[in-house]
Amino acid sequence: MESARELGGGAPHAVSDGLRRRLDPPASVREIVARLERAGYETWCVGGAVRDALLGQAHLDWDLATAATPSQVMNVFKRTVPVGVAFGTVGVLDEAGTLHEVTTFRRDVKTDGRHAEVAFGASLDEDLARRDFTINAIAYHPQREELRDPFDGQLDLKRGLVRAVGEPVQRMREDRLRALRGIRFAGRFGFHIEPATWRAIVSSAPHLGSLSGERVQQELVKTMQQVEKPSVSMRWWRESGALRTLLPVIADAPDDRFEALDFLPRGEGDEEPGRTLDRLAMLFFGTDPAAVRPALGALKCSNAQQGWITALAKSEREIGGTVDAVLAERVPTAAEVRRWVAAVGRMRSMSFFGLVSARWHARLAQEPREAVSQRLVELRAMAGHAAFHEPVEVGDLAVTGEDLMRVGVTSGPEVGVMLRRLLNFVLDDPARNQRELLLRRVTVDVHPGRE
Ligand code: ATP
Ligand code: MG
Repeated sequence: MESARELGGGAPHAVSDGLRRRLDPPASVREIVARLERAGYETWCVGGAVRDALLGQAHLDWDLATAATPSQVMNVFKRTVPVGVAFGTVGVLDEAGTLHEVTTFRRDVKTDGRHAEVAFGASLDEDLARRDFTINAIAYHPQREELRDPFDGQLDLKRGLVRAVGEPVQRMREDRLRALRGIRFAGRFGFHIEPATWRAIVSSAPHLGSLSGERVQQELVKTMQQVEKPSVSMRWWRESGALRTLLPVIADAPDDRFEALDFLPRGEGDEEPGRTLDRLAMLFFGTDPAAVRPALGALKCSNAQQGWITALAKSEREIGGTVDAVLAERVPTAAEVRRWVAAVGRMRSMSFFGLVSARWHARLAQEPREAVSQRLVELRAMAGHAAFHEPVEVGDLAVTGEDLMRVGVTSGPEVGVMLRRLLNFVLDDPARNQRELLLRRVTVDVHPGRE
């Protein structure tokens, strides 16, 4: 790898007043830097927080890089957590109990595209040189108010460019995840990918199968969490060949499926997990459900996520075409919507209609149809009403299986069959969900001619 010096990166430079206001790590972070510096160990803020601060965006985790070895860090602070000592990372707990990651300056001694072996005793510049992209390889010293930016990361931030540190093909060969990270950062900040970096991503694509499912899943999830318009990122996944290697079941999915992601807003705070899950489900909305679960399994998604996403794909197969056909023509009837909600399931129905709407919005962005947009609003209101105020499951019926047996239905599968028949009766008109009316209907069925 080229050293920072060979690349001609400038000496540390003082920051302007404007930058100083942005580069403002919290007091607890400054305190950790101060203590390490007092003990004689050079310590800098590095990585994502510096990048985001320079972009004027808030970032919660200020990672620190230091000349101290992990054991020296543990000697300086009373409360530490050995987060990843083999890789040089110690967690330092501040007074409030918040953990801050402090990592020893390191350089890579061996890389095989998956695992790196690192050596300590490196300089700050060597540490920056092993980072993936120039925008992630800027260091800030909060005491000296100095920036160290040997690869011109600030220039790339200004130009809006994701560019590998050093020789791109080699850097991607060292760690294939960098290909996906580069695409994610570009999508997140609305940046371009520098041509040589892009070519390296493309040449990495056939090798991405060597990444663990967990790491790929994490990248996909972070993309859905962080990127406002994931269609761009997913187009890069597709154009680079990454999608073909990692998720062949959706490599040939229609464009509107990816464009629909942009109409599913990413969530913040409490709503984040559900929104992220909706975006993940959109990727498979229209794929053969039998192929969805194995694909999610390979990504090591949880069983709950696999179940949820697969069920939505299954519902899409079952009723997606009908729903779309109705919406293209007219407002659905209340009974139709109730039946759709019943088919999808109460809990999944809001997600399902959210995905259906997002896909329509993607199409309508190409070819606006005001009437359809209006129908989508009505559909979602109707679906919400049906799901949360009307009987759509056997459990919502005004009678139970025991009631049925009391009036003569034989215990066993017949009870379930009869309950589903009653639900069907009620789905046409929720006013029918009355105990007496339903029991009378059962009696007629069980003892024909008695009435
Ligand atoms: P995010 O906001 O997504 O956390 P980040 O830049 O903080 O973005 P992290 O994954 O937390 O990303 O990594 C912190 C820093 O470590 C990066 O900014 C980068 O300098 C370095 N880094 C992380 N992963 C890699 C990698 N695979 N190869 C090289 N450097 C990496
Ligand atoms: Mg980070």
